[in-house]
This record gives sequence, C-alpha cells and structure tokens, in this order.
Amino acid sequence: MGKNFEHVVLNAAAVDELFESQLKEWELARKNYDALKDVKVKTLWIRKSEQANFGAGRVEAVGKTGLTGKAETKQNPGIAVKVQFNPARIVSSGAKVDPKTIQERKCFLCAANRPAVQKGIGFHGVATDYTVLVNPFPIFPRHLTIPCTVHSRQEIDSTRLDDMMSLAKVLKDFVLFYNGPKCGASAPDHFHFQAGSKGFLPLEAKLKNFRTKEILKRGVYNKKEDELKPSDNFLRLSLIENYINGAFLIEAGNKKLATAACAKIYAAFSRIEGKGDPSFDPAIVKNIESKVFRDGEWEPMFNILCWYDTGTWYIVTFARGRHRPSCYDAEGDANILLSPASVDMGGVFITPLEKDFNKIKAADIEKILDEVAVTRDVEQKIIEGILCKQNVQSEHQVE
Ligand SMILES: [Zn+2]
Repeated sequence: MGKNFEHVVLNAAAVDELFESQLKEWELARKNYDALKDVKVKTLWIRKSEQANFGAGRVEAVGKTGLTGKAETKQNPGIAVKVQFNPARIVSSGAKVDPKTIQERKCFLCAANRPAVQKGIGFHGVATDYTVLVNPFPIFPRHLTIPCTVHSRQEIDSTRLDDMMSLAKVLKDFVLFYNGPKCGASAPDHFHFQAGSKGFLPLEAKLKNFRTKEILKRGVYNKKEDELKPSDNFLRLSLIENYINGAFLIEAGNKKLATAACAKIYAAFSRIEGKGDPSFDPAIVKNIESKVFRDGEWEPMFNILCWYDTGTWYIVTFARGRHRPSCYDAEGDANILLSPASVDMGGVFITPLEKDFNKIKAADIEKILDEVAVTRDVEQKIIEGILCKQNVQSEHQVE
C-alpha cells in the first residue's frame, strides 16, 4: 500500500504528492483521470440578448436592429460557458438524495466506509477537522473532496465558511466549492467541500466577463510592490447581473469581513425562505435540531464558490430556487439529464449522457439557469435584506 498522508501538513506540494501517489495506487481514480483527458467539451455563448431575461431599466446597449432586421450583437458577445460530456458523473447527476435512500446507504464520506486505498491529508478547521481526498470521479484536471472527519449534516455557517476560506488560501491553485444539501450535495448527511483546479470555471477564470453592480463597499485597493492589493479592511459586495438571478460576489481583504458579508446574504435569504437560522453563527444557534423548518429543510438552497488570489478572498454565493430544472424530468426529446450544482453555476455544465451533450444549446442553458435560480423578486428582497441594518448581528456589523 502507498504512503499514508494523515499527518502530512497540507500545502501545494503535499497535494501534488497525494495525486501522484493515488493515481499510482488506485485503479478507479487512475482510470477516471485518464478518461477525463478525452472528455468532449464544447463552448456556448449565453445571454447574448439580455432583453428576454432582464427587466426593464437594467439592460445596457444590446445592439441595434440593422437593415437585415436581425439584431446586431456586437456590443454584447455574451458569456462563454462550457458543456462537458462526462459519463463517469452519472453517479452524481443521477444520484437519489431522498431521505430514505440516504438513510439506507453506507455513507461514502465516513472514513470507516471509504476504500482502504483512498488516502487523505488532514486539515484542522475552526470547530472540526477535515480530510483532503482525491475525488475519484473528476470534473476538473484535479478534483478534491474535503469531508469533515465527523458524520454531521451538510450545513454552512460562519465557522464552516471560515474553514472554506482557510482552505482556499492553502490550496491556492484550487477553487473551493460548497453544494447545499438540497441543491447538489450527493451526501447531504455528511459535511463536505470540494475543490477543483483554478482556470477551469469561466466564472473564476474570466470573472471580468460577468457584469457586476456594487451593493456595499468599504476600504480600497492599494498598489503594493507593483501589485494591486486590497487594504486590510477592503470589502465589496456586488450583484452579478448578466448571468443568473440571485448570484452575489464578495471580494474581501480579510476573512471576518467576508464572513460578515456572507452572513448578510444568508440572513436575508433565510428569512425569505423560512429555512436555516438567520444568525449564520453556530454559537448563537443552540437548538437547531428542535426547530421545524419549512419543508423539513435546515438551510435555504445555496451553492458557494470561494478562491484566494493576491490578498483577496473571492466568494460567489448562488441563491437557488429549485434543485433540478424541468428538462431533468421531461419526456422524450425534451429530456436533458443535467443536475446543476456549484460547477455548473461556475459555468461548466456537466452532461453524463452523450445525446444531451450533442443537442444542448445556449437557449437550453439559459432556461436551466432561469429555472434553478431564485426569481428576480426574491433577488430584490435579498438585496433589501442586505441593506437593512436590523438584519445584521452586532458582531457581524459592516459599515
Ligand atoms: Zn458520513
């Protein structure tokens, strides 16, 4: 058996070594990473015509109607997203996550049930520890699964977000992501993050192509040693406007401010949905088990991406309205097996079936994004909640 990584200190070199060792020792992982090199990918340009999807007053110049009668789209090339045909991901996209199925299966993230060949690197979090594992069903050139060392449900809060940011800083070549228990996590009963190679998700790699509108800002960016770095108190919270409803971007120079900004979004969405605890702080939530949440759900639906670059944490939160789009259950030709989670929200849409990969068009992606997001009305209410001072716990106060 290969090296045991349990007590290795987590850093970029250790992750390199873990991949090398696991791809040598573990046939399933090797086979799936080899197959990934040949997966088909295509690029689609979406949101070229924003009029159809965005309300009046928010549309910038979209193009004039020329003599041909066709709209010229020169001024708005849209956003490039990718579609990946990845048959190995059927295990996740087709996963049953109803309470009965979850209860009856052995948890694949618990150490006792993991294959003996799967090794991991330990990481100390604020409240619990984690194990950094190679994901044997990759989407990214390098794909990690990072379960908590104890079997406890998938639920984001301020301490978990702190851990996510710490991991993003240590794993600086990766984007960290979190899928809520009802919108993408295939183990809603065992807390975990995932991470994938940077430069792969359009939202991270081409963030500037996504139009944002500032909601809150404090602090500035300063030029330090020829690099633009944020001041320690830098925070900007923006709405991503031209992609999907309910997507917010946080850029912050420190973790505390980032957590406070995220808490504002969480609190607002939690109050609207009647799910989760608006405090976002496990130290305040004492009786979470005894609370009855709407539809038995303990958290409003979120996907979260987080990465670190040049002194700045970037966090994108997606407030979801629905788990799976209508095409998931549609009959006949209208059927597309696509179950969107953080990776799809980041701009890489995974189709485990080749027929779907071949037929899917930009309009299908736009429809899927519109269906799984919150409505424009809920997005507006979240913004109002963010700007309402009463909704913020005192220790989370951001001026
Ligand atoms: Zn477990």
